[in-house]
This record gives sequence, structure tokens and C-alpha cells, in this order.
Amino acid sequence: MADLAPGKLVFVTTPIGNARDITLRALDTLREADVLVAEDTRTLRKLLEIHGIPLGGRPLFAYHDHSGARDHERVIAALRGGAVVAYASEAGTPLISDPGFGLAAAARDAGASLTAAPGVSAAITALSLAGLPTDQFFFAGFLPSAKSARRKALTGLASVPGTLVFYESPNRIAKCLADMVELLGQDRQAAICRELTKKFEEIVPGTLRSLKERAETARWKGEIVVLVGEGPPKVTTAEELDSDLQAALAEMSMKDAVAAVTEATGLPRRKVYRRALELLKPQ
Ligand code: SAM
Repeated sequence: MADLAPGKLVFVTTPIGNARDITLRALDTLREADVLVAEDTRTLRKLLEIHGIPLGGRPLFAYHDHSGARDHERVIAALRGGAVVAYASEAGTPLISDPGFGLAAAARDAGASLTAAPGVSAAITALSLAGLPTDQFFFAGFLPSAKSARRKALTGLASVPGTLVFYESPNRIAKCLADMVELLGQDRQAAICRELTKKFEEIVPGTLRSLKERAETARWKGEIVVLVGEGPPKVTTAEELDSDLQAALAEMSMKDAVAAVTEATGLPRRKVYRRALELLKPQ
């Protein structure tokens, strides 16, 4: 039993490849919901069929990236009428590089209660398998397809302290790795995580440079997550410390300046404080 109160919107996570990667609670929810909403109604019908869940006379309608206010209203009206509404993405967790954000916001604004029947996500599955640190990670989703926007996004991600997680398509993977080599650094450890949970699941570890070279001939197909390990720690030179401190001291109190520069450089606070005192000393 999914234990669902009337008027609840449930975000249901569906498998990313292997149809058996669905939770018992997700199946209960799909069986018991009064209204089913899906990013792709054909995929949901197939999933119901695999798991022997009859649709019966229940409404099933589509909600995707191009859905607008009218589709929100349809869901809100059902929730207000006391229906339990289950929303399922085509694959994986709703809202994770998938539709659902607008629907969640509209339901919340309408005072509806929301819950989730969570499950698999390609990002988390890739992190489990890739052999890169997972204590801190940053989910960057799909990079922009336009070259200049993609390069700008990568530049902004270069110093993120943690493993970077990208979703990518096989058509763009070679270009994307070439930009990563240039903007994130060729020696960073990375991994191509392909076709997770499916028959041809494959994890290809390597430096960004070696993966870029392999991508030129490998012709990887299917669905891909790219993980990129953290870059080398930033080294702050004495000149950089002085110029950071002078800029900060010109704008804030000594205490705040020391805190800001300590945070930005990762240097020991005591070292930054001592240098700030020296800089403030009359010459
Ligand atoms: N909501 C999904 C999730 O929770 O992972 C992501 C959906 S997004 C539209 C689709 C992208 O996720 C694919 O282009 C690929 O980058 C990644 N992806 C989904 N399934 C995958 C799989 N089985 N193996 C590798 N990557 C996958």
C-alpha cells in the first residue's frame, strides 16, 4: 500500500534502463493513483504493462517541457477534487534534467501537498560506479549545445570543489570532451558512464585527455553520464595574496577582509591575518 492521502501529488521515479529498477512503493503508487500524468505516456503504459498494473479507466495524460498553465490547471483541478495524482518522468527521477519543476511549483502555490516515491537517477548511479570521489559533487546536467555558451559554463565550473556530473549525448561527447580538456585541464581524472543498468553498461575511466582521444574513434552510443574529478588545489602566490587582501581591505573591515580572503584562497587564516597586519602597518 502506498499510503496516499487524497489530493496528493506524487513524483514517481521510473527506471533508467532496467525495468526492474523500480521501488515497491512506486509500483503501489502507480497502481493506486486516481490520475496518472507522464512525461511520455507510451513509456508509462509499457512500464505498467511490464509490472502487470492495469490502467483501467483512469485518466493518463502527458506533461512535458512544453506543458503550460492549462496542463497545470488540469492537475490542480484533479488534486482539488481529492484525486491522488502520480507524475512519472520518462526515465529516472522527475525534475533531474527532466520536467516537473513548473508542475511542483504550481501544485505548491495551489496549496496541494507533494511527496515522492524516489528511486534511481543516472547521476547517482554513475557516482556509485565511476571510482571518483563522491564526498562532494556538483550536478551540472546538460551543458549548453552552443559552443560559446558551453565553454562559458565549463569556465564557471573549473574550480568547483568536488566531482562534476554532466549528462551528455553521444553526438556531442567528442566536442564536449575537447572543451573540457581545454577549460578544466587535460590531466583531470574522469569517467564515461554509459548505458547504466542496461545490457551494454560500460564505465570508461581515464584522464580527460585520454577520454578525448578515445572519443575520436570509440563512437560511443546510448546514454552517457560524464564525471570529472576535482582539479588540483589552487596555489595562491604571495603577489596574489597581497592583491586579494588589498582589494578586500579597501572595501571592508580587517576582520571581514581576512575572512573573505581565507575563504577564497583556502590559505590558513593565521597566515592571511598576519599578512593583513603587515599591509596595514604604516610604511
Ligand atoms: N531524470 C533522469 C535521471 O534521473 O537521471 C535524467 C533524464 S535526462 C532527460 C536523460 C540523460 O540522463 C541522458 O541523456 C543521459 O545523459 C542520462 N542518462 C539517463 N539514463 C541513463 C543511463 N541508463 N545510462 C547513462 N546515462 C543515462
